[in-house]
Amino acid sequence: MFNFKKKFGQNFLSDKNLLSAIVTDAGITQDDVVLEIGAGAGALTKELSTRAKKVVSYEIDLDLRETLENLNLENVQFVFTDFMKEDMKKVEKNLSSFKVVANLPYYITTPIIFKLLEESEALTSLTIMVQKEVAERIVAKAGGKDYGILTVMIAFYGEAKITRIVKRDMFYPAPNVDSAVVRIDKKTRFDVDKDRFSKFVKASFSMRRKTLLNNLSTLYSKEKLKQTFGDDFLKKRAESISIEEFVEAFKKLEN
Ligand code: SAM
Repeated sequence: MFNFKKKFGQNFLSDKNLLSAIVTDAGITQDDVVLEIGAGAGALTKELSTRAKKVVSYEIDLDLRETLENLNLENVQFVFTDFMKEDMKKVEKNLSSFKVVANLPYYITTPIIFKLLEESEALTSLTIMVQKEVAERIVAKAGGKDYGILTVMIAFYGEAKITRIVKRDMFYPAPNVDSAVVRIDKKTRFDVDKDRFSKFVKASFSMRRKTLLNNLSTLYSKEKLKQTFGDDFLKKRAESISIEEFVEAFKKLEN
């Protein structure tokens, strides 16, 4: 009997309709190469293997190796290692383009998303199961309590939407929270230095209750901020600023 490992975020799926719906949400066709992070016992991998051209699936837990290899899925390559330690250049070496479809381990959801969005050149979309609360933060609109660094930085890389809510009892073992499937389509919309932009967004949100003038003065002098922007803008809080406004403000400061 397999011992589920909490430390690896092991909450497995088995409902065939749900697995099929996730692959449909991802828009997978026979032309697609799919990268999966966290094969588990291979439930989603099997569905992907029947619908995609090729699947590369990472799994950290060596205790799952035999189960996965015994599935004998011809178009699936399993890689038994920690995905976070993989060099993205190596991952995508022979892939001209690929989509990610995964029921992500929750303890490293955000690091995985940013590793993919920041380091991959061939990634076109991500369709991922995440905690519902994280999904709500990803798709939040400016002005609400869920809107923050995660929302803005994901919007910087692409367009995100929730495709379905998944109740906790669909998993085994059931986690303490409900989940949601989020699809992020990668889009290059903004021509700015991503590392500097990311620092700018993080500084803007550093103290949620403070104004942009206060938060941004950790990065730029107050004189520079006052020369660049009017009072109305500097009195605002980051939570009310859209991705387009963030990019515009950043460009003004960098020029
Ligand atoms: N795809 C399966 C399913 O839907 O039933 C399993 C999903 S489970 C939420 C996440 C899986 O990711 C687990 O099997 C876990 O062992 C694996 N995992 C956790 N951390 C990982 C990492 N750093 N690299 C690769 N796999 C990881």
